[in-house]
Amino acid sequence: MRPVIIAVAITGSVPRKKDNPTLPVLPQEQIESTHAAFEAGATLVHIHVRNDDETPSSDPDRFALVQEGVRKHCPGMIVQFSTGGRGRDPAARGLSLVHRPDMASLSTGSVNFPTIVYENHAVLVDDLAGRMKTHGIAPEIEIFDLSHIHGGKRLIDAGLMGANPHVQFVMGVQNAMPADERLLDILLAETRRVIPGATWTAAGIGRHQSEVMGWALARGADAVRTGLEDNVRVSKERLADGNAELVRIAADLLARHAARPATPTEARARLGLRPA
Ligand code: ZN
Repeated sequence: MRPVIIAVAITGSVPRKKDNPTLPVLPQEQIESTHAAFEAGATLVHIHVRNDDETPSSDPDRFALVQEGVRKHCPGMIVQFSTGGRGRDPAARGLSLVHRPDMASLSTGSVNFPTIVYENHAVLVDDLAGRMKTHGIAPEIEIFDLSHIHGGKRLIDAGLMGANPHVQFVMGVQNAMPADERLLDILLAETRRVIPGATWTAAGIGRHQSEVMGWALARGADAVRTGLEDNVRVSKERLADGNAELVRIAADLLARHAARPATPTEARARLGLRPA
């Protein structure tokens, strides 16, 4: 059985509302939800934090609080902070990196989202990559468009990033790339040509979550991604009970592809991270 990393994106930026009541938003809720996901087989947690009024936050202390809880309750789990932009001041997006999570997400270009332009100016991208390098944080490059692969390559050539980043193809965001299996092949081929040392995963948004995961597993992905940030339903009829249920669905899918959830040690080795 091939070990595959299950990444869980526990919260995201979308408000908690009636169609996602189990979304963990406060730090304690986030730690508990991550712990349940860890017990179910997740070994990487992707974290956004919120203010008390539940709006997206860039407060480094909040990030530190969640990281501390995860490190305490989920031994070895890989902590990844989001430096994503929805609802956050661009200048504040990198402030949390002083707390040296294992990884941080990094968008290398701009793209249309459902209701906004997700802006990632080249100056900001360089700044975030530089901070990650300074603090010894491994980037996960978010690929919302083909050009973002080349954005990653530019950072490598500029010495702002190592030659073996982790990349994530994000499919199914309205107004960006559709969830399309042939498109995944194109993205993967281009990544292998341009950044041959990259490890990779793919995220399917909304109803595409399991479908994209299946395509990724069939192509030997190093990781899969699930979690309430991307999708809150297990079927048309039913909402997920929480992040752990989505992780269990991912683990079942792994088994159908002769794979099993990676242990924290295996996950860290695969992504070239320091031991916990
Ligand atoms: Zn995110």
